[in-house]
Amino acid sequence: MANNMETATGTRGRLQDKVAVITGGASGIGRASALFFLDQGAQVVIADLNTATAEETLALAAQKGHAESIRFLRTDVSREEDIEAAVALALDDFGRLDCFFSNAGAGGTMAPVTETPVEDWDRTVALLLRSVFLGIKHAGNAMKHQGCGGSIINTSSTAGLNAGSGPAAYSAAKAGVVNLTQSAAVELAPARIRVNNIAPGGVFTPLIRGAKNEQEMLAFMKGRLPWPSVGLPEDIAHAAVFLASDESRFCTGTTLLIDGGLLAWGPGLFPFGGIYSEDRSFSAGNIGQG
Ligand code: NAD
Repeated sequence: MANNMETATGTRGRLQDKVAVITGGASGIGRASALFFLDQGAQVVIADLNTATAEETLALAAQKGHAESIRFLRTDVSREEDIEAAVALALDDFGRLDCFFSNAGAGGTMAPVTETPVEDWDRTVALLLRSVFLGIKHAGNAMKHQGCGGSIINTSSTAGLNAGSGPAAYSAAKAGVVNLTQSAAVELAPARIRVNNIAPGGVFTPLIRGAKNEQEMLAFMKGRLPWPSVGLPEDIAHAAVFLASDESRFCTGTTLLIDGGLLAWGPGLFPFGGIYSEDRSFSAGNIGQG
């Protein structure tokens, strides 16, 4: 199917004629994004280590009539030659590159800082931060060469914005993504290449489902989110489409927090259910009786 065809609804998609690489497209947020990008008229390369689940994504895309518009490349995002190959596949098969979405990730080392083996630290940072650097480097160069701008989307996490949302190495790497996004945004702005970052939190995917049984994890997450339900991969995919599309023309260097109010709630001491009483009357504090 030619990429410049109209979408099934007869309208031009928000990503019509665009080509995207999405890392981690075999599961969770990456899969939902790949399918939504395709629905919006994009051609997509999914780059992932997991061949079995990548094939499921390809099958889902085919069911929606997008078999010709998607490719899979087995990729380890921490390896420079693999990222180069993913960019090259987009250019070779689809003729251009408009968006690179660095989304692949995993928890990495769960150890406390004082007990973390150096190799585990390095592997975690390579998976979550070096990968983002490599995406910016190679997609940025391809887009500069192309000469008509582009959109690079990175993925951090609520864990990169405070302590307590994730393990230490994961959180530090994700914090690095926030800053690297800003540096790269400034560097690439003259070439009209936008670099933005999505910080998800509380999204129900295999990444966090694995930690406890499904029902326990749902109950646990709902207890911490102000929003009455957990996040879905599609909630992040919608944001990614905005950042990949021309609608975000003037948006660069930003971190878009999508977490159902998780961070806004801060320590969660108030409202009721926190440490305060259920008394709703006016409180003048402890001023005594004069
Ligand atoms: P997921 O486990 O469903 O998907 C992650 C994908 O990344 C998998 O397909 C996996 O095979 C792939 N992957 C892992 N290591 C790889 C490697 N070295 N090379 C290539 N691919 C690799 O998880 P998800 O929840 O969809 O996570 C996507 C991104 O969102 C991650 O960067 C994660 O840190 C981030 N994130 C998720 C949440 C959440 O609540 N789910 C919160 C904050 C941040």
